[in-house]
Amino acid sequence: MKNMKEVRLRLAPSPTGFLHIGNLRTALFGYLLAKSMRGQFILRIEDTDQKREVVGAVDSLIEIMNWIGLKFDEGPHIGGSYSPYIQSKRLDIYKKYTNELLNKDGAYPCFCSADDLTKMRKEQTDRHEAPRYNRKCRHLSQAEVEEKKANGLPFVIRQKLPLDGEIVVHDELRGDIKFKLTDLEDHVLIKSDGVPTYHFANIVDDHLMKISHVTRGDEWLPSFPKNILLYQSFGWEVPKFIHLPLILNKTGGKLSKRQGDVFVEQYKDKGYLPEALINFCVLLGWHPKHDKEILSLTEMEQEFALDGMGVSSAVFDIDKLDYYNGVYIRAKSDEELLALLKPLWNTCAEKSLTEQQNDEYLLKIIPTIKERLKTLNDINSLTGFYFGEKIEFDNELILWKALTAEQTKNNLEEISIELEKISEKDWHKEYLEKTMVGWLKTSEKKVGDYLWPLRVALTGLKASPGPFEVAGVLGRELTLKRLNQAVLKIKTLKSNL
Ligand code: GLU
Repeated sequence: MKNMKEVRLRLAPSPTGFLHIGNLRTALFGYLLAKSMRGQFILRIEDTDQKREVVGAVDSLIEIMNWIGLKFDEGPHIGGSYSPYIQSKRLDIYKKYTNELLNKDGAYPCFCSADDLTKMRKEQTDRHEAPRYNRKCRHLSQAEVEEKKANGLPFVIRQKLPLDGEIVVHDELRGDIKFKLTDLEDHVLIKSDGVPTYHFANIVDDHLMKISHVTRGDEWLPSFPKNILLYQSFGWEVPKFIHLPLILNKTGGKLSKRQGDVFVEQYKDKGYLPEALINFCVLLGWHPKHDKEILSLTEMEQEFALDGMGVSSAVFDIDKLDYYNGVYIRAKSDEELLALLKPLWNTCAEKSLTEQQNDEYLLKIIPTIKERLKTLNDINSLTGFYFGEKIEFDNELILWKALTAEQTKNNLEEISIELEKISEKDWHKEYLEKTMVGWLKTSEKKVGDYLWPLRVALTGLKASPGPFEVAGVLGRELTLKRLNQAVLKIKTLKSNL
């Protein structure tokens, strides 16, 4: 269709640090809306508040978005037809549009000093009025303005809002929202150093970059009517607005740094997979049609739609994130997991092993702990016992139920004798299990009395993969060695333990 409007959405972060989970959700929803309508997704850096800027934040943002897998079609790192994509490099553009707005009577210069404003606010509060700019400079004549400028008085530019009546603005999720104009303040669009505020630069750029849909957090709802009035003053078409509901913690409060991790980088460092994070985030405010919980990015791109989105706040539930992470970890092949885990594995096998032997060994371990990995970083605590000669265990731990130390030692010795009968060639989990369980059954022994001490002798842990899985990975020699060590240790224990 010829005149169909292009779909263009943008992520417009301020480079103030790491990527907040809330911003990831905003980014994801913007990306998915764009892709579900075959549109473009743009990165624009909103750095007009230089005081809040953190050095390196833009690079780290691009890096983490790459890791997450959301690709931009335009942005400061890849260019595009609407460059530059960093607001601090667009100051001339803003100057031009400031003059245009002044000429259209949509704004006015204000010469009130910081002291004037403080005094004004105090008087208003004393009178129990809401503190806001009293519009003093709105009434200056052209001659007065020129004179003040000629005298070198610093000034800001304020938006000239209608004085009374109502404005109805439209949000795609909430429908029409009514605001009383008497509640709005002529806020600052251009600061005294000539740099625009968010409210000006954001609207000018969305217009110039042909943004068709704006997704942003609902903390921007109070400024929404002012944004729309600015579009009207310029005579520009208004994009569709989608204000995303807040993400709350489990107790109903705001997601805050004090209660836990709130940045995507922290979750990456903790061993969460990007697939799990976006799957988790997409369900914070969107319900897929088929109630399907596990969705790949491609499925999301195909299924995402406005009508599945709601306005009630979403709850950040870390248990769910852990669940998704587990699902995606288990969906990986052992080789894929090896590549992800190797850099995190402290004990990357023994020095005598070649790289290839090392990988072979690690690949044997992975299937035994895959089910237990909640995050990639669990790898060290889950696999320490696979490395080194000796295993430390608590003396009490190795004793199963009412078994004495003496009985435990005897049982381990019996197991040793049986295991020694198994050759190197047959030494793998399935054969070990079949043979040893068969032996326990035919000799009418209680499974727990033998397999518990065997597992503790091999791992030193209360919970671990089963004894035959572990023995299969450790190999014949090391398994027998650990059993022998355990027997020797128990011999030194008092029999009344
Ligand atoms: N720079 C704003 C922020 O970081 C962008 C909000 C918007 O998307 O309009 O919150």
